[in-house]
Amino acid sequence: MSAERSLARLGSALALGFTLALTTLGAHAQLQAQPQPQPYGGPLFDAHLHYNDEAWMQAHPVEDALGRMQRSGVRAIIANSRPNDGTKTLASAKALTVAAGVQVVPFIRLYRNRADYSSWFNDPSIAAMVQAELAAGTAAGPYRGIGEFHLYDSANANGPVAVQLMKLAQARDLVVLAHVDDAAIDLLMAHAPKAKLIWAHTGIGGAPVDRVRALLLRYPTLMGELSYRPGLTQGSGRLSAEWKALFTEFPGRFLIGSDTWVNARWQGYESLMQEARAWLGELEPAVARRIAWGNGAALFGLPDPAPR
Ligand SMILES: [Zn+2]
Repeated sequence: MSAERSLARLGSALALGFTLALTTLGAHAQLQAQPQPQPYGGPLFDAHLHYNDEAWMQAHPVEDALGRMQRSGVRAIIANSRPNDGTKTLASAKALTVAAGVQVVPFIRLYRNRADYSSWFNDPSIAAMVQAELAAGTAAGPYRGIGEFHLYDSANANGPVAVQLMKLAQARDLVVLAHVDDAAIDLLMAHAPKAKLIWAHTGIGGAPVDRVRALLLRYPTLMGELSYRPGLTQGSGRLSAEWKALFTEFPGRFLIGSDTWVNARWQGYESLMQEARAWLGELEPAVARRIAWGNGAALFGLPDPAPR
């Protein structure tokens, strides 16, 4: 080997080593930085909003609640309340909701008071109340759904009023918002296999992601709302890898929500929506927009909001 050739070899070996070192450094710097993606900036559809009497009669009158939505970029809501007066109050405030740019989709709540939470599924007077509300409608138009209702014991999904209301929802094309476990999803869908069911929290008990996937595959009209969902984000607020994969696999099946079940959730409303915007920003923009807005708008036939 000539001295010239071995020098050339040494040179290319050094160059390769240098390139490798640079690449490693680059990858290391990237790992360390991991910049937080830009938050999602488009419209939001809040698919789990309560306007209970302690909110609208006390701390959060209509102007206050709408102000929080407007500042958060929320352009449509599923409104329901215990009792239904809060929803009707919001639905009647047409000038204010139009001015705030918020479309109201009214749902019938099954609760007149807290006692109804644990007995509605066996109580014929609840079914009668739902029929009366349906017949009356609201100032914002007919009711579009039933819920949120709770089943703390999934076996109560077979209660006579639960069966009756699932069949009613399917017959009248009403969307159901249900806070239940995964076993109750199977039971409810058995009563009305074509009903449109929004699974509140997509299982607040943290049903495994594979179980959520299996239910979405089994029931094409099932959707998941994501407030309080355990495991959705990690400590830093970043979207977990398994949920990111599930959203990418089923971009048309999820919705965001605030779940303003107590006034503290109203006080934190804007932060809740900011948190949602942060993890939505980690998704492909088209997927983020569907989960943030498009899926809810499509479910109820809402027009896209005018830019503000
Ligand atoms: Zn709720």
